[in-house]
Amino acid sequence: MTKILVVEDMDSLREEIIETLTYEGFEVIGAENGAVGVELALKHLPNLIICDVMMPELNGYETLTTLRRDPSTSTIPFIFLTAKADKMDMRQGMQLGADDYLTKPFTIEDLLGAIAARLEKQAILQEHFDRETEQTASRMEYFARHDELTNLPNRVLFHDSLQQAVSHASQQRQTLALIFLDIDQFHIINNSLGHDIGDMVLKAVAERLKVMIPNHDMVARLRGDVFAVILVDVAETELKDTAQNIIHKMSQPYKIYGHEIFTTCSLGITIYPNDQLEVDGLIKNADTAMYHAKETGRNDYKFYKSELNDRSAEFMALENSLRRGLDRAEFRLFYQPQICLSTGKIVGAEALVRWQHPELGIISPDKFMHLAESTGLILRLSEWVIHTACAQYAAWEANGVNLSRLAINLSGQHLRQANLTELFKTMLRDHNLQHQNLELEITESIISKDTDAILALFSELRHMGIRIAIDDFGTGFSSLSYLKTFPVDTIKIDQCFVRDVTSDRHDAAIAIAIIDLAHSLSLNVVAEGVETQAQLDFLTQNHCDQMQGYIFSPAIPAEQFERMLAEGKYFVGIGK
Ligand code: C2E
Ligand code: CA
Ligand code: CA
Repeated sequence: MTKILVVEDMDSLREEIIETLTYEGFEVIGAENGAVGVELALKHLPNLIICDVMMPELNGYETLTTLRRDPSTSTIPFIFLTAKADKMDMRQGMQLGADDYLTKPFTIEDLLGAIAARLEKQAILQEHFDRETEQTASRMEYFARHDELTNLPNRVLFHDSLQQAVSHASQQRQTLALIFLDIDQFHIINNSLGHDIGDMVLKAVAERLKVMIPNHDMVARLRGDVFAVILVDVAETELKDTAQNIIHKMSQPYKIYGHEIFTTCSLGITIYPNDQLEVDGLIKNADTAMYHAKETGRNDYKFYKSELNDRSAEFMALENSLRRGLDRAEFRLFYQPQICLSTGKIVGAEALVRWQHPELGIISPDKFMHLAESTGLILRLSEWVIHTACAQYAAWEANGVNLSRLAINLSGQHLRQANLTELFKTMLRDHNLQHQNLELEITESIISKDTDAILALFSELRHMGIRIAIDDFGTGFSSLSYLKTFPVDTIKIDQCFVRDVTSDRHDAAIAIAIIDLAHSLSLNVVAEGVETQAQLDFLTQNHCDQMQGYIFSPAIPAEQFERMLAEGKYFVGIGK
């Protein structure tokens, strides 16, 4: 039944209204003043409130204001009753959110008319609200299982569908193939052309896949640039053709906003029931096979093989030996010279860690860094690196070797250590080092996480006189705009841009843009991985400040580096 609250201090009028409305079939509650009115409104949540303006305790305006503030009563239709027909009063009431105004004396028809109009409007609003809520709920339900960008099923729906497909295949004694697809070096598209274009490429990839895959099979987007395809009851030759076909179709150029974008993809394939019976196992297999395709040169497909898993056994053995290696001090720091491009002289060095394994010989950090990160051993290793680099620098100073900068790589985990600045204070004090000679290299991808905390940390480190370099610039998720806000000193152009700088005009454009931007912000630019004279010439002509690379020297042991410095070795090929 529709419930109406009548707030009116004049007893005779209140009783009369209550009687009339009750007769009309409403459930009516009476309140003799505003304070009681608010209390009863909160308790009964009526469908409509009729309220006098001039009342003791809480007047009509105050009553309305109080009710509008409470979410449970804020939208109840509210009609003022008053003897005053003053326009100002009316306006004040409306501004506070009243829905209508009846001036005394009023007829029963006036009253019922106003009530009917308000209730009808409220019903329409409610209906609209219900419809919206329902639509939102179904949209939310849809996007809980679909990817918003491509409209493809997402990982949740994919997982359920794979489960169903596996059960079905098992009943029908059929095979089933699961293919994972990853776009090769997608981050380069994102970084060089922007995320909008990256998104368009993802959409285009989704469209191409949808067209190629028959309706009873499934295409899903699992994450970032990784897609999955489920193919039921497919023979191996047919599967190879499909894989080859996908690779071919994906490598056709994408025309987006006037850009012609070339990209390739890598596929990993696993087959039910031959490789695995369980859904999670199949997913793991497809992932493993896909990474194998990437490792072996990309733009290709690989079938899952059980040998690929043996690598994880190898991985565990490596973890144990990494731990032992730390205990037995098997690590070494090598130093790679940094050359000034205008003088050809060595101006600094980057310390790079090596593992001197008793049986396997020298192992490069690419082979064990991710393991050190995932096991947390990186913290011990990093502390050792910082300590060793500082001690080495102090020793060189004591020997009269002149080196204006020593760069140390820091891992993301180390940055999140609460005592990092303390650690540096202690190290610098213990070794009596000049702060401004120390540069910490931090990869760009780390900055885009925990931005505020890292901003504060950088400021603190720089305040101590330590320099900050952004490593592998251009490959992370951050954008050039970060540089304006981050307190940094140096940018290191990643090797992947330097490699083809003389043959790929996109890479050349990126390298030039990074150099120009850095200079406009008064930052120092170091190019990494310089191997050829042509690369060196390009960088010199475009005013890059320094470089590191095999063209001059790889990272070498400390004694060898010291000899190089003492001999005053410099780069003779500059400016040729
Ligand atoms: P990075 O910081 O980008 O280091 C540059 C890498 O490029 C080094 O590989 C270096 O030896 C190599 N390189 C130098 N010149 C050339 C060249 O002309 N051509 C080519 N192709 N490569 C060149 P490395 O020493 O294997 O280090 C790999 C990565 O491991 C480093 O990349 C860095 O991210 C990490 N790393 C190395 N030492 C440490 C360390 O002490 N602490 C931390 N946290 N990470 C480290
Ligand atoms: Ca580095
Ligand atoms: Ca680097």
